[in-house]
Amino acid sequence: MRIALLSDVHANLVALEAVLAALPAVDGLWVMGDTVGYGPDPADTLALLRERQAVMVAGNHDLAVATGQGLEVFNPVAASAAMTHRKWLSAEDRDFLAALPTIEHAGGATIVHGSLRDPIWEYVWDARSAYASLVAAESELSCNGHTHVPAVFQLDGDRVSSTLGRGTVSLVGRVLVNPGSVGQPRDRDPRASWAVLDTEGRTVEFMRTAYDVAETQQRIRERGLPPFLADRLASGT
Ligand code: ZN
Repeated sequence: MRIALLSDVHANLVALEAVLAALPAVDGLWVMGDTVGYGPDPADTLALLRERQAVMVAGNHDLAVATGQGLEVFNPVAASAAMTHRKWLSAEDRDFLAALPTIEHAGGATIVHGSLRDPIWEYVWDARSAYASLVAAESELSCNGHTHVPAVFQLDGDRVSSTLGRGTVSLVGRVLVNPGSVGQPRDRDPRASWAVLDTEGRTVEFMRTAYDVAETQQRIRERGLPPFLADRLASGT
């Protein structure tokens, strides 16, 4: 199967539409959480992914928007956007987000936002956290998001090796694949980050798609979200 891996779309509909327009033929769409939070179009972003029958898990922003859970540990800008999205979304949308699984299984893989040790909150930045997640996974292949930086972590015996999410990476043994962020990349490349996973060929191809950043920035400012959320998109931070 070929699967498009998307994560951290963060209500950036313009970026999501650009990615969907660039998609090759795939058998499915997996979304590793944080569909809402930060961006200008939470309802339309959620509707588009539901229409495309994406397999989705809950991220920390999804739960904060849906139920207020975890808002107290958000920084003021993130909390402000989450509370605004909470007001904008319908009760049906909030219920949908609140009911998302924290861990999902599809195509022989495990899908999670943060890590298998802490599905909602843990950031997998280093070998130590990657190791804990890789040994806790029920499958060889896991996919996550949350850091907004594309990467692959592979378990080799007791050691974990990490690879930047660039080009095509062969997946050997236990692996954790993070496609980066569609809606708010943080690796100093403002283009939407995503990936195509080949579950039989055991490869992942990392993709970048340029989108109209200025349009998303304008919507963020016009709709009264914190201006910092618009500014950061230009630099990919
Ligand atoms: Zn996120």
